[in-house]
Amino acid sequence: MRELYDVIVLGGGPAGLTAGLYAGRSRLNTLIIEKGQDGGQIAVTDEIENYPGQLAEGESGASLIARMTEQVRRFGAERCTDTIKRVELEGDVKKLSGAKGEYQARCVIIATGAVPKPIGCENEEKFIGQGISFCATCDGAFFRDLEVYVAGGGDSAVEEAIYLTRFARKVTVIHRRDTLRAVKSIQERAFANPRIAFMWDSVVVRVDGSGLLSSMTVKNVKTGELTVIEADKADGLFGLFGFTGYRPTSGLFEGMLEMENGYIKTDENMRTSLPGVFAAGDIRVKSLRQVITAAADGAVAAMQAERYISSH
Ligand code: NAP
Repeated sequence: MRELYDVIVLGGGPAGLTAGLYAGRSRLNTLIIEKGQDGGQIAVTDEIENYPGQLAEGESGASLIARMTEQVRRFGAERCTDTIKRVELEGDVKKLSGAKGEYQARCVIIATGAVPKPIGCENEEKFIGQGISFCATCDGAFFRDLEVYVAGGGDSAVEEAIYLTRFARKVTVIHRRDTLRAVKSIQERAFANPRIAFMWDSVVVRVDGSGLLSSMTVKNVKTGELTVIEADKADGLFGLFGFTGYRPTSGLFEGMLEMENGYIKTDENMRTSLPGVFAAGDIRVKSLRQVITAAADGAVAAMQAERYISSH
């Protein structure tokens, strides 16, 4: 018979890893299923400065995640790499079917996070990997001494723009309003950086090039004016990084769980609308999406799962 786990955690970002850590520590028979590498968004974040106790200058998301992963391993949670395609979450035994196998558990903790939203311009798909990127840590070095543009005005856009100045000779943030959404301390660093410029009230409406990205049309949303930006002739291309927010990875649960704009609704104990199903981290409806709140959700979800199991 297939093993019946106490808890299956879906997702290996800070929420999922913390849930796995707490469940393992409670001696629950726990399996963490992650489709790719651990870490989610944080794995590609260059520097974490606001996780409590995080004082090591320049510590990356990847190194924080590596420590979390090791801690989870020590507490005994099992790991598996698979992409879950179908779930049955009603009833006392929850069933999950993946590309590699079938899994079952008494509780499921959904920590599948969110993925970057597209920039939303014409021709975008054609230039992903050919000048358009959603990961500065992964692709920033390709743009050494070139010009780079960043779409967005939140924490991610501004932090990653600062990071990109390590490589690019100039970074221009294209933001649809005239004030940034990013937290003030991040804004201050960006405004003080001579290699960062801003295009206010603007959005990218179209990208072009023969093969590589070398031209784009930017619209001023107040005046309607269109500006065509061409790559410097000697460069032949420029980079465009999209940081216009994230989309929840919740398609698998549509119609099964209560949601709001694709985010899973929970109570303060991370309980979803189905018994024995919990959600933690960026996937759920919440006001602050950070590593600290994801980790806290994971801890609460695991402790509630333990309570659920002992009362059933
Ligand atoms: P975000 O806070 O949702 O910001 C998205 C930005 O993109 C906003 O400035 C938004 O403009 C803009 N935008 C959205 N849709 C757009 C569109 N269609 N066209 C052009 N611009 C568009 O996303 P985020 O910066 O990725 O952050 C996500 C979460 O992670 C937030 O909770 C953030 O605080 C957190 N985070 C924290 C840190 C940190 O603590 N160090 C770092 C990164 C992210 P408007 O401002 O006009 O809405």
